[in-house]
Amino acid sequence: MPDIAVPEALTTWGPRQLPVPYAAHWSGEGGYGRRVSMRLDGAGVWYLDETPADRDAFGVLWARVQNTPGQGRPDFPAMHPARQRRAQAERLCQVCGASASHNRDGWLFLMKHDGDDRYEGTKTTKPPVCLPCAALAVEYCPHLTKPVGVRSRRPKLWGVFGTLFTPTPNTARLQAHVDQYLPYGHRATDWFLASQLVVELKRCTVVDLDAEFTALNRSPEPFT
Ligand SMILES: [Zn+2]
Repeated sequence: MPDIAVPEALTTWGPRQLPVPYAAHWSGEGGYGRRVSMRLDGAGVWYLDETPADRDAFGVLWARVQNTPGQGRPDFPAMHPARQRRAQAERLCQVCGASASHNRDGWLFLMKHDGDDRYEGTKTTKPPVCLPCAALAVEYCPHLTKPVGVRSRRPKLWGVFGTLFTPTPNTARLQAHVDQYLPYGHRATDWFLASQLVVELKRCTVVDLDAEFTALNRSPEPFT
């Protein structure tokens, strides 16, 4: 592994100074806040004290979670809805929160090796990364046993990931179906609570990460 400096903007935690991703959820931020309930007209779910800020431009309702990174312990595999969403939408590095790596092959995403390296059209909840953080992730992240660097020239906002609610006949109770994907524009939008933004990777190229790390070391770019 080439020796790549830890970006200054990176939050670290614990005696081992583990880097904590920008998009990671912290225990001090608590779980999902106010629960949704069925609208009075029975046509979907809402917050009783909902404001326009609770929905995105496609009318999808988003989970409310406190935004206080650094409080408590980092929960590495879990992503914070607001920070994950911002990183995906603004193409920020999910690890340091600065701009993700972009070159003529597109934006850099780290993917799990899927056997045949066909990533075109993949729908992902994992925001892109910058090159120094890609090197860190390869070094630290236990979930990435064989990460593949994939660049996408057109990462397209596809939809959301979260919980689909269905009404229980003749009651105000809701059934929750967790870990669902919902494309933007779907008719179930009114019954969905989003917790992550999903991007579809189009015009993909698999890249040689080691070569990119080595090139970065030869001509280090200042972190901004
Ligand atoms: Zn980064």
